[in-house]
Amino acid sequence: MNNTEGTVFNIQRYSIDDGPGIRTTVFLKGCPLRCPWCSNPESQNPHPELSYRYTSCKKCGACVNVCPNGAPTRTEDGIEIDRARCVVCGACVKVCPAEALKISGESMTTDKVFKLIRKDAVYYETSGGGVTCSGGEILSQPDFVASVFSRCKEEGIHTCADTSGFGSPEALDKVLAHTDLVYFDLKLTDAQRHAELIGVPPDIILQNLRTIAARGIPTVIRVPLVPGLNDSDENLHAIATIAAEIVPDATVHILPYHKYGANKYAAVGMRYTLDDLAENTPENLARAETVFTGRGIRCEVSK
Ligand code: SF4
Ligand code: SF4
Repeated sequence: MNNTEGTVFNIQRYSIDDGPGIRTTVFLKGCPLRCPWCSNPESQNPHPELSYRYTSCKKCGACVNVCPNGAPTRTEDGIEIDRARCVVCGACVKVCPAEALKISGESMTTDKVFKLIRKDAVYYETSGGGVTCSGGEILSQPDFVASVFSRCKEEGIHTCADTSGFGSPEALDKVLAHTDLVYFDLKLTDAQRHAELIGVPPDIILQNLRTIAARGIPTVIRVPLVPGLNDSDENLHAIATIAAEIVPDATVHILPYHKYGANKYAAVGMRYTLDDLAENTPENLARAETVFTGRGIRCEVSK
């Protein structure tokens, strides 16, 4: 039986937002995109990393004393971490009395992940749920996702691949071989703007969407709606055109922009750049929904 290793940053049980029914969502670490609204910044780095929540820090200095590499130093507010020195050994996590430090990301085998998945088999059966792999970007760890999904299929568990669509055709092929449903993000259609804002060009993404459609795998197109960045009528109509042309029977889910992940940026040494951005108004969400429904496309606004 295929047992592969992957890097996971969270496994969420009883999830109801990542596909039909009650699901277990396996969040993978590592993403080649840099969406500034990302609500899981700890998912971007492909490797395990030290996360520090300054709001919990008791300023005791235990981490400073135990670190073999001098990575944390004391400051007025707690500690500062020199991430170039940190080798993610975890010694500081063990001595922190406030749980302000943790290692985000863990190498896990398919066997280990599947042991957890199997615990909730009864919920999948009764709710029409299953397992979702999300990220991070799942196409960055295709062998691991394929291994988890193939194990699910052997036991009749529904699988959902939640992807930005950015990955090689070979990676996509491996994942799709065991996928029942795809959640596929479409954010922007203008190639230059896509590259500027997200850090990669959109052509690979669109080509992968075509591949998924050609396989006939049910697909939900997910559109994060970020005021001022991708919510223009022009962009939404262009996404609607792509949806209608490539996956005519797709449902569109609009994902309202929120700031839930903003505090997590500092924890992994990153800077959140959208502090001043307002969240969507109900009118803005309704306008976006109408763009799709007005063109005969099923559309839901997520919470
Ligand atoms: S994880 Fe290890 S190297 Fe990194 S700061 Fe903590 S003790 Fe130092
Ligand atoms: S050990 Fe924990 S509580 Fe103490 S200074 Fe370090 S992060 Fe803060």
